[in-house]
Amino acid sequence: MSLHIFGQKRVLSFNYTLKDVNGLTLDASSEGPLAFLEGTGQIIPALEAQIKDMSAGEKKNVKLKAVDAYGLVDEKMTMKVPKNELAHLKIEVGGFLQLNLGEQMKVVRVAEIAETEVTLDGNHPLAGMDLEFDIEMVESRSATEEEVTHGHAHGPHGHHH
Ligand code: ZN
Repeated sequence: MSLHIFGQKRVLSFNYTLKDVNGLTLDASSEGPLAFLEGTGQIIPALEAQIKDMSAGEKKNVKLKAVDAYGLVDEKMTMKVPKNELAHLKIEVGGFLQLNLGEQMKVVRVAEIAETEVTLDGNHPLAGMDLEFDIEMVESRSATEEEVTHGHAHGPHGHHH
């Protein structure tokens, strides 16, 4: 049981292993725990909801449906571009390109390279996937005023200035 002062934001540090439904590891906190400030959208909201009341040392398996994780695949997020427009770039299927769309930068995945066209996919690489997280809570503490002001966690696992 964790003491929770109402209205007080918390900083949570946790280790995780992210797996797909077949148990294949997709990502893990290999460089130490991930620290985040509660309620700032730094991690998937549905994951945050499931782990925010965990105490240090507690472990939990969290399963998320695609729609609650990185969303469903949106066909409108894919586009075909003429291959010769990308001729100056070294592209390969599964690689990523940074597109400059006027003011906005967008990272897209090279989904397919055909004879004259390249299919680019702007969906998150984990869109459409049900995911499973093995979580180990390392630390759960009150956020400092400075962290709340900055909107991110400080300290060994957090943001360094
Ligand atoms: Zn800061």
